[in-house]
Amino acid sequence: MAQTFQKNFKAIVSLLILIIGSLIAQSSASGTTFNNDRIVIWVFDIGQGDAIFIDAPDKQVLIDGGPDGQILEKLSAVMPFWDHSIDLIINTHPHSDHVTGLVKVLERYDVAEVWDSGQEYGSDVFEYYQALKAGRENGVQAGKKVDLGLGAELEVMWPTFDLIDQRLPNVHNGNVVTLFTFGNTNMLITGDFEDENELQILEDLPHIDVLKVGHHGSLTSTSIELLNTITPNYALISVGEGNDYGHPHPIIVDRLKRIGALILRTDKDGDIRVLLDGGEPQVELFDL
Ligand SMILES: [Zn+2]
Repeated sequence: MAQTFQKNFKAIVSLLILIIGSLIAQSSASGTTFNNDRIVIWVFDIGQGDAIFIDAPDKQVLIDGGPDGQILEKLSAVMPFWDHSIDLIINTHPHSDHVTGLVKVLERYDVAEVWDSGQEYGSDVFEYYQALKAGRENGVQAGKKVDLGLGAELEVMWPTFDLIDQRLPNVHNGNVVTLFTFGNTNMLITGDFEDENELQILEDLPHIDVLKVGHHGSLTSTSIELLNTITPNYALISVGEGNDYGHPHPIIVDRLKRIGALILRTDKDGDIRVLLDGGEPQVELFDL
């Protein structure tokens, strides 16, 4: 009896070691991190659109979901298989290249909270998103913050005015902009924020280590004034290969080069991971 128990016990321990070993191997291949002393920010390669995932010890935050369901594959590549919840979803604005993937995520994941500007927009996909988020929504304005753990936080920088139930001729004017801070490291997450609004938040912005370039590198964003203020070290452009808009615009790419930023683009470089452990940000490329 005792021998059988010992045998079974050994077999179970060996099996557990095997499972844990394969999980670790899988996680390092996919770029997942189980550590509680670092923060990972993904700028996913999801075609023409935006999808940024912040994986921090206290919170997982998804900012926009891209133009289709690809986001589900990306999330399952970087999240542990048992994790079906996301603490916070932020929709920068109602355009389909930002909100469509969020609909898929709201259908599949337990999402605790949803932030957006509260603005109205007439599309079917945005109306479906509004129905799905019901009961969890927050029309946010500048100053709203969330603690991510390790002293890191995410703060809303725009809009600076109430947009709940408002319809704007240009929805980009109500685009939710967030500033991520962790120790000395700052990342500005812009969605499709445009240059005339950039000028209005300049004096509230610190030096930015990592810039998620506005509006997929369009000429309507990333003013010289913004770049001179934030002097980004890295410029990450979320953009689809061969897109119809000519994004990123060569003038913007040139502007970013002149300021000395290292440019990485999802269409050419794939999925971009920013790893933060309190020191300099480590930016690496993956093909999830
Ligand atoms: Zn867009």
